[in-house]
Amino acid sequence: MFSRLLWLVFIVVVGGMLWFRIKRFMRKHKSSQAPMTTFQTVRCAHCGIHLPEQEALREDGNSFCCVAHQKAFKAR
Ligand SMILES: [Zn+2]
Repeated sequence: MFSRLLWLVFIVVVGGMLWFRIKRFMRKHKSSQAPMTTFQTVRCAHCGIHLPEQEALREDGNSFCCVAHQKAFKAR
């Protein structure tokens, strides 16, 4: 009974490690496909902070760093 439990723990640990390695490898591979030159930043129309384009919120040609600033910009 105890050895069976030990095996189960061993399998879970090894499986988890393998999964983590695969995930890390995939991320590495993905990032190498997208060169840094395509990385673009945009400016928040409310506070002026620069942030990655894919993280920005877009509306009517303006970019925002968060929903709060998007609302604040519309309110003024
Ligand atoms: Zn902002």
